[in-house]
Amino acid sequence: MYRTRPELQTMESSFFKLPDTLLLVFDRNWVLSLVSDAWAATLGRCREDLLNSCFLDLLHEDDRERCVVRLATMDEQTPTLRFASRCQRQDGSYLGIAWNIRYDSENALYYASAHETAVNLQGDDARLPDMFIDSLTGLPNRSLFSERLQHTQHRARRRSSLNFAVLYCGIDRFKVVNQSLGHRQGDLLLMAVANMLYSTIRPTDMVARMGGDEFALLLEDIRDVSATLHVVNRIQQKLVMPFMLDRHEVYCTVSFGITAGSSKSPEELLGDANTAMIGAKALGGGGYVVFDKQMHDQAVHRLELEMDLRRAVERGEFQAYYQPIISLADGSLSGFEALVRWQHPEKGLISPADFIPVAEETGMIVPIGRSMLHEACRQAASWNRRLSAGQAISVSVNLAARQLQSPELLADIAAALADSALPPALLKLEITESNMMTNPEQAIDLLCSMKAMGIRLMLDDFGTGYSSLSYLHRLPIDTLKIDRSFVRNVHRNDKDRHFIETIVGLAHKLGHDLVCEGIELACQASILTGMGVEYGQGFLYSRPVAAHEAEMFILTSRNGGAMPAAATVPFIS
Ligand code: C2E
Ligand code: MG
Ligand code: MG
Repeated sequence: MYRTRPELQTMESSFFKLPDTLLLVFDRNWVLSLVSDAWAATLGRCREDLLNSCFLDLLHEDDRERCVVRLATMDEQTPTLRFASRCQRQDGSYLGIAWNIRYDSENALYYASAHETAVNLQGDDARLPDMFIDSLTGLPNRSLFSERLQHTQHRARRRSSLNFAVLYCGIDRFKVVNQSLGHRQGDLLLMAVANMLYSTIRPTDMVARMGGDEFALLLEDIRDVSATLHVVNRIQQKLVMPFMLDRHEVYCTVSFGITAGSSKSPEELLGDANTAMIGAKALGGGGYVVFDKQMHDQAVHRLELEMDLRRAVERGEFQAYYQPIISLADGSLSGFEALVRWQHPEKGLISPADFIPVAEETGMIVPIGRSMLHEACRQAASWNRRLSAGQAISVSVNLAARQLQSPELLADIAAALADSALPPALLKLEITESNMMTNPEQAIDLLCSMKAMGIRLMLDDFGTGYSSLSYLHRLPIDTLKIDRSFVRNVHRNDKDRHFIETIVGLAHKLGHDLVCEGIELACQASILTGMGVEYGQGFLYSRPVAAHEAEMFILTSRNGGAMPAAATVPFIS
């Protein structure tokens, strides 16, 4: 009879390790033609009694129908399946098993082995199997992984030579697959990645689905952290080839966060590996990061920032700063871009680069963006009433991806316009290409609704996203805003100059006008003016300033005050 390992018996938990040799074979009529000794021993039954009996009879009666339904989905294309069920022992007690079933279509036989960890079920626990196996991929879930990790740590404490590592693994840009190809393809990709991970690690290691597009791997008996990199490499190698999902070829990359065994709790270890994975994603994906102290400190900093930001939203600590947008032909003021600033009670003015990414991720950008929209419209309406002297002043407001997904966006815009009485044509909304390209069709519908309100639309940071030019003519936009990375070297780099020239030609053909952002030098302004770019924005004219300073700017420009002239410096190559 199979005995659980002594070190596992000391644990309070009822999880235990099964032998490797649990194997059953049955046919389409569920008749068992092979039963391994280990399996009979695990159930406390006699092998001969089990042979020729019905596989379904081994299962808890409430699990049988689910098993029939799941197996019916197996065929040549999907020959493997994992699911959990309860099995009755000779003494009447139940055992929770995670099955790996393989279908041999040639011989119409099912080969069933069991996942290495099982659970003893008693009383209320009899419902546990559904809870420790992820139903989509059939992999162990987070709680089973934590259990196993705890066992491993327990063993490592007794045997100092046992090294282990935890790897957190996330599919890069999974949301894009889900949004562009649909949820079915998303599910297929998750199953394919799960199978690939499962088939790459050793049978003694473990892979589990943590939720969403995230998996965790537990590698035991490794020399040191560098040994885990071999596993990472093996997985990356497999991802060079695309997955075939319903006749779609889908390429994907994954990011890994690695942490080595330590005395921390399983949840802390998983947290560290997760933090490292986020670091790997931030580096562009497709790589790995090993957790260290610096990373830990960054994670703590980020958490503090998130809490601070929540308070700031409640207390309304955000202000709109304004940066002038200049008509390049005559140097007159055309309008302003509203840029958010956080007036932190202790840290002073914080720039958006330091908090917008966190605000985006947590969804806090939605209330922040809403208040910016209201404030910018109110301010622009006030300037136009009091100071414009007949020449309209527009205001541009940036919209984040999260805002575009918010069902309240159109109502928010309408409310901001109605409350301020700003003519809609004086409101411009800036949207980046990448925000839109996750779901271009949906974005086009939304932009059309905005256009119908009389608002003007601008494509911000143009040239930096990885959008398809083929969509450009379908977007109902008025203006392209060329990113400052192209403007920076326009006076000394042929490539950037040619890029802008080409875009100017294309934009004009499509009936759009252009703004160049990040103009710092008079010679840059001069070159851009010569190319036919209509508007410019940058430190050459003014940095973003508080509303009262912007007001001074309006007054100066209305009184014929000089804007820095577009110098006639020739192109410097
Ligand atoms: P953006 O919309 O492309 O804004 C232009 C950024 O370039 C601003 O940075 C501005 O200060 C900076 N800039 C302008 N002229 C120059 C120049 O001549 N040289 C250099 N080096 N930089 C220049 P800022 O204010 O730090 O904003 C950064 C980004 O944060 C913005 O890029 C925008 O994507 C985002 N952002 C700012 N305010 C908001 C907001 O209210 N809502 C949303 N969703 N995003 C915002
Ligand atoms: Mg902008
Ligand atoms: Mg920009």
